[in-house]
Amino acid sequence: LNKRLKVYGEEDELTRLAKTFNDMLDRLEESFARQNRFVSDASHELRTPISVIKGYIDMLDRWGKDDREVLEEGIKAIKKETLEMESLVEKLLFLAKGDDRSIKLERESFDLKEIAEEVVREIKLIYEGKNVSLKGENVRINADKKLIKEVLRILLDNAAKYTSKNGNIEIEIGSGDEAYIKVKDDGIGIPEEDLPYIFERFYRVDKARSKDTGGTGLGLSIAKWIVEEHGGVIGVKSEVGKGTEFTVMLPLINDSK
Ligand code: ADP
Repeated sequence: LNKRLKVYGEEDELTRLAKTFNDMLDRLEESFARQNRFVSDASHELRTPISVIKGYIDMLDRWGKDDREVLEEGIKAIKKETLEMESLVEKLLFLAKGDDRSIKLERESFDLKEIAEEVVREIKLIYEGKNVSLKGENVRINADKKLIKEVLRILLDNAAKYTSKNGNIEIEIGSGDEAYIKVKDDGIGIPEEDLPYIFERFYRVDKARSKDTGGTGLGLSIAKWIVEEHGGVIGVKSEVGKGTEFTVMLPLINDSK
């Protein structure tokens, strides 16, 4: 891949061809590098739960047979790590399939506010104590219901993870030229210098902190992929210590794909 064609000054057919060829090689190289990084980041992420599981298996092996308490603690921890690994692998598979374009959107007409209500109910069950409110109007869109629900799950789950125990989360559904979803929280916020990167794969603002919250840094990159595949955009505004607001815009009329 190191070979590039010589480009001479003249603007003839051959020179243009050589330039095109060189550009193609550049893009190919870049894509290999990206793929490489994805695989090494993914392996790195999988290593952590695997070594935790190994540690607990050793513990069970040594003391678990005679000590009921150790046995229960070990099984519980292994279960938790396995579930996390399962969810990580599912996310990786989703992104890999997205990359080779083997995910087809299954569009249907549905009400955004209705599915938001469903996700709010789920989130309230998982995070007791959070004040989650939903406002706005009923908006029908033609989209992949499962995937849009996933976007809402990712945004609400983050809002819940990064707010205090009795944090406030507000969801608003509405429409103008496009349908919109706003998810606003009064949590810890995101530093300005991190904002440009939060939609990148594996990017986490505070790795130590989000390890406690079970973060992988993949949620927002998946949300962005889904929204853009629908011809929409996702954006964020945030202030440290005040809170964060994500906005998703989706076309009302399906003229994308
Ligand atoms: P994670 O699984 O770590 O939450 P995401 O891709 O969903 O990964 O988010 C990337 C990072 O963006 C998070 O690690 C967190 O630092 C930051 N982030 C996302 N949503 C919020 C939010 N509502 N409030 C504060 N920080 C957030």
